[in-house]
Amino acid sequence: MSDPTDPGDRRLDGNAAAGVLTEVMTMDPASAMATCAHCGGRAALGGHLVYADAPALVLRCPSCLQVVLRCASDEGGRRLEMTGVLLLTSPPDR
Ligand SMILES: [Zn+2]
Repeated sequence: MSDPTDPGDRRLDGNAAAGVLTEVMTMDPASAMATCAHCGGRAALGGHLVYADAPALVLRCPSCLQVVLRCASDEGGRRLEMTGVLLLTSPPDR
């Protein structure tokens, strides 16, 4: 019988998160709201400042101008670095 207080009984491998991660990663990026890890400001990603003249796209916070994320898709694959995003949210699908 499983013991609900044993953290080992609640642990699953990463495949158990695949469905939710797929939903999260396919959210509409323009309307998704990002909370800046630097200043706590909250804005739609579509309202961030984009610098496209670097090896990756760089998005900066419209409030504090710090880098919130970098992303690239090229022959090397897809990369996403979001250390400047404290929280990314989107409304539920209708
Ligand atoms: Zn900020």
